[in-house]
Amino acid sequence: MGLLVAALAWLGAAALAFVIALTRLPATSGPDTLVWDALVWPALVLVLGAVVQVISRRRPARGIPMAAAVAIGWATLYQPAEARPDHAAPDLMLVTLDTVRADQAGTPELLELAATGTTYSNAVTTAPLTAPAHASMLTGLAPPEHGLTANGDVVAATSIVEVLSDAGYRTAAFLSSKVLERHTGLDAGFDLYADVWTRRGRQGVFPGVHALLGAGGGERRGDHTVEQALAWWAATEGPRFAWVHLYDVHAPYAPPEGWGPDEETRQRVKDEARSTPAPASGREWMETLPTRHAASQKALYASEMAWTDHLVGRLMDGIEPETVVIVVADHGEGFGEHDDAFEHGRNLFEPVMHVPLIVRWPGKLPRGGEDERLTSVQAVAGVLAEAGDVAWTGPGLATSDTVLAYTPGQSSRPAMDGAEPEPLASIRHATSKIVMGVDGEAQRYDLMTDPDEETVIEARGADVERLRALHADPPEPLDERAAKRLEALGYF
Ligand SMILES: [Zn+2]
Repeated sequence: MGLLVAALAWLGAAALAFVIALTRLPATSGPDTLVWDALVWPALVLVLGAVVQVISRRRPARGIPMAAAVAIGWATLYQPAEARPDHAAPDLMLVTLDTVRADQAGTPELLELAATGTTYSNAVTTAPLTAPAHASMLTGLAPPEHGLTANGDVVAATSIVEVLSDAGYRTAAFLSSKVLERHTGLDAGFDLYADVWTRRGRQGVFPGVHALLGAGGGERRGDHTVEQALAWWAATEGPRFAWVHLYDVHAPYAPPEGWGPDEETRQRVKDEARSTPAPASGREWMETLPTRHAASQKALYASEMAWTDHLVGRLMDGIEPETVVIVVADHGEGFGEHDDAFEHGRNLFEPVMHVPLIVRWPGKLPRGGEDERLTSVQAVAGVLAEAGDVAWTGPGLATSDTVLAYTPGQSSRPAMDGAEPEPLASIRHATSKIVMGVDGEAQRYDLMTDPDEETVIEARGADVERLRALHADPPEPLDERAAKRLEALGYF
């Protein structure tokens, strides 16, 4: 009799664990895998119950208070689901293409999208780094203002996603790089923040367990990301907002099978690698790098771009034509245009700062339109706010005369000459740019007459003073605990 009651008590505790895990698990997974993920917890309760009952097999009723204690423990985690207000507004989709240069965006699917929306041909980012640039998109602020100035920092400003969610939007983010995982604070306002996947790039049946164990690779292939995003989109009642992040173009350039360069180019890439003599010195390596390296790397990069373009097409085929769509890059990529400046993060030249931006906004923006006015990635939040019909004070499309940009000099590729990374700040105007390092020397470039930024012009005035002030009092990264404390105090 005692054993029967104890067994029922453990089953009850297990059922409670399942129901509460369903409502409380971190939103790393879609609705389908959430159930599997939640099943881990009742299984653990039943294993515990079996162990307790084996130990107390002579007095089985002793297990009953233990089962009750476990059930009460789980019950304390219960939180009622919040009701969402009704909000009649269009569905929104933000697609961020990591590391895509503005001059690489003439691919078939992007051109097709551009034909149904407006292209912003003078769009720039606020940082040549993934997390800081995405934080600018979601907060409408430049990095020194939102506080996430380096990958690994925490954002310290309100995200447009929180506002959309409060208004009644269903919100989900589908990420492809660990750089954007939830410790950045960019998950604020998302019902679902899919930043966990298995080592093979799949989302996995137990994403919550993967998250607990810290398993999974640093990036996942875009087709897995797109597949998960479209499954959520189809299963969710509107109004919906989805952010889909595609990381394939980012280095290392390894196009999937069937998308790589043609056989002739592949062979050339191999031959180049083989015929390259070992550099005699770091300086020689640096000096010969651009010509030796750029062509083969560009070929691989272009193949990754073709693959990514195909993924954008898949996404667009899976959503309704009336959906408001923003396609933008977080930053571009250097191919040796300036000394050893490959990849991104260490300078603020146009190859990394000029980004593609296409906005499809039916009934608002002209189809096939082109706007040459200066626009920054900060406009993403403004577009989402206006299209989503929520109050917001950040900049919109082409509403600012200047764009502030910043980098701490962080890069995955170390400087060839071993130079220490140096913080840089810049102010971009429509046709010119001022860049300044910590030495306080201003370098101005006229982008109309000198698009390759080869000739430094003298700079004076308010912009120079503003950049000097920024370097004199550099933005200090908030550590996560400090950010949490400020949040608890209601600061952001
Ligand atoms: Zn990036």
